[in-house]
Amino acid sequence: GDSSNLITNEMLERILEKNRIHIGEGKVADYIPELSKANANAVAFSVVKQNGEVVNVGDVSQKFTIQSISKVIALMVAVEELGEKEVFSKAGYYGTDKPFNHYANLETKGKPLNPLMNAGAILTTALLGGENDEAFQKILGMVRYITKNEAIGYSHSVYMSERETGHRNRGIFHLLKNNGLIEGEENRLDNYFKQCSIEITAEDLAKIGYFFANQCTRFDGDTKYKNSEMSKLVQSQMLIAGMYEFSGEYARTVGLPSKSGVGGGIVVSVPNKIGIGTFSPGLDAQGNSVVGYHMILDLVNELNLSLF
Ligand code: GLU
Repeated sequence: GDSSNLITNEMLERILEKNRIHIGEGKVADYIPELSKANANAVAFSVVKQNGEVVNVGDVSQKFTIQSISKVIALMVAVEELGEKEVFSKAGYYGTDKPFNHYANLETKGKPLNPLMNAGAILTTALLGGENDEAFQKILGMVRYITKNEAIGYSHSVYMSERETGHRNRGIFHLLKNNGLIEGEENRLDNYFKQCSIEITAEDLAKIGYFFANQCTRFDGDTKYKNSEMSKLVQSQMLIAGMYEFSGEYARTVGLPSKSGVGGGIVVSVPNKIGIGTFSPGLDAQGNSVVGYHMILDLVNELNLSLF
């Protein structure tokens, strides 16, 4: 049945308030100065129910940068354009115990472990090719389509900050090039920095979660990109690699395809059911939002949403 009928404002409100206690446990990302400016006390919790209805509580209008969650969209756009075979001839389907920005086996002429680590995401965006910021525009366009929110843009200051400090990502880009996996100049990498700087809300995330949960059908029922193979692919990657090196333990405790970003967002897809989006900028040691994780865990346990 449709257990999402049970989800009300009051339920989400109760779960959110209960978990404010965890706010102090996380640390706001400060690897770039721009991110450290986030309001550490902001919390938002959003669900798109099975019927497409949105339930939002907390700081619902708070925008934050999408960061790593953009990798899921870039994967979709790359597969849409080039096909799964081509993309996965250059990246693996592997999970990882390594942090998000690890070189993994690139030094040994290998390919990225999966498209959700930085190496794989820099690859998928670079594979989109194009002039100037064409690849970024495609990714932004897909985020706008899925959320039906044309107002979504990106933070220029976060972008500039990512670009100035992204030496490790620059290293990854050049190793990918060295290994013959991608072509082109560093503007291809700028697209990656820009996609990480896209600004969204928890509600936008819940709509992204809903989309991948429901064979790429949009929350309002639009089926322009409907594709059950695509949603299986994307959700399987989220399940094995969406929460950095915490992915395995997260699969054990939450048991749902999810993706986090260091901006403080988490997106969850409950297959064939609902989408969940959370925001709280305090991160744990692996880079996942602490309050977001606890809110998701509570909702999933209360409604028995785990896949397992
Ligand atoms: N812009 C970040 C980076 O590539 C993304 C990090 C993340 O959210 O995991 O360093």
